[in-house]
Amino acid sequence: MRIPLLDLTRQHHLIENEVMAAVSHCFQTQQFVLGATVENFEKAFCEAFDCEHAVGMSSGTDAQLAILMALGIGPNDAVITTPYTFFATAGCIQRVGAEVVFVDVLPDTLHMSPARLEAYLRDHCTQADGQLKTPSGKVVKAIIPIHLFGSICRMAEIQKLAREFDLTVIEDAAQAAGAEYPGQNGPVRAGAIAECAYFSFFPTKNLGGAGDGGMAVCRDADFAHKLRLMRNHGMEDRYFHRVVGGNFRLDALQAAVLAVKLPHLENWNAQRRTNANLYREAFTSLGILDHIQLPTEPWADSGLLNHHTYHQYVVRASRRDELKASLAEKGVGHAVYYPVPLHLQECFSPLGYKKGDMPESEKASEDSLALPIFPELTQDEISATAEAIAAFYR
Ligand SMILES: *Cc1c(COP(=O)(O)O)cnc(C)c1O
Repeated sequence: MRIPLLDLTRQHHLIENEVMAAVSHCFQTQQFVLGATVENFEKAFCEAFDCEHAVGMSSGTDAQLAILMALGIGPNDAVITTPYTFFATAGCIQRVGAEVVFVDVLPDTLHMSPARLEAYLRDHCTQADGQLKTPSGKVVKAIIPIHLFGSICRMAEIQKLAREFDLTVIEDAAQAAGAEYPGQNGPVRAGAIAECAYFSFFPTKNLGGAGDGGMAVCRDADFAHKLRLMRNHGMEDRYFHRVVGGNFRLDALQAAVLAVKLPHLENWNAQRRTNANLYREAFTSLGILDHIQLPTEPWADSGLLNHHTYHQYVVRASRRDELKASLAEKGVGHAVYYPVPLHLQECFSPLGYKKGDMPESEKASEDSLALPIFPELTQDEISATAEAIAAFYR
């Protein structure tokens, strides 16, 4: 049995008629960039994810870039994130000219370690002229925790540090659409926890479009206005440019497809969790938990339904590369997210990080392996995947 890591066609068949009708409507109106379809989707997105303001963007990357630009972050500044994430998170920081600062992740969730963050802020930075400065003299402005693989970071501790040091928290919610977190005043959705956040609608994400797309969300109305300016070349009235922005606009076709998919997301995320439970049962009964460590569910005890949205189902495997080769031979889909942590990427070598600086991220890059988890995966495929892994360790 060939088992795909992800098969988007199965989902499409379930919603094909709705999607095609929505797409057809766009062609009827010939309104392709922004406009009513995008505005309606932004409203629906706010409602679904408890956000105050949502601004449709051309990708998750552009949403992050627009946020950094709207915050006025530039060459004198520094932004803190983790090296175990998709490249864009750090790439955007560098693109606005700011210093990328990495702190290591927690060994279990691979989310930002609040202790590492605190150690960096207290032990490596200095207060000068009322500003917090990195050893290279840049002003620390923001922290970007990543809700990696679909569950939410330890936000309370991160936000407490951010308040103490007067830093903005930007959630990278690209992998966590719909995920919930036990906030002080009750459940909060990814993206509605900090001041601002960004989402990605890349087709493989839990809420994926028919191409690239993204969303920037925030609490503050003035900041939302700035984001809208940034999205459209800083244009207030047509051909009057208040600031220099970019073309970060969301296409109406993407918004139309996403608006059809949005009401299904809760159900799709539930199916992903069901699949994760099936894996746990299978791996447990196959007796291979000495060889593979299952993904942690940091908020499972919170009672929240969407405590994890399993964008990826990532195990930690002994002899990972051999297992990988064995699965490839058997036609079982798998992938490594991520093979090289960002502090060791060639393009960031001028930052001066070296191997050994971020041990948890480095270890994860050597033993993590993502298995198929998409909502339409069948029980037989899950059993066969688990069996293929067990056979390798036997
Ligand atoms: C996908 C992703 C992004 C970027 O989103 P794009 O829409 O592909 O530009 C950023 N951060 C993380 C963690 C992602 O997974």
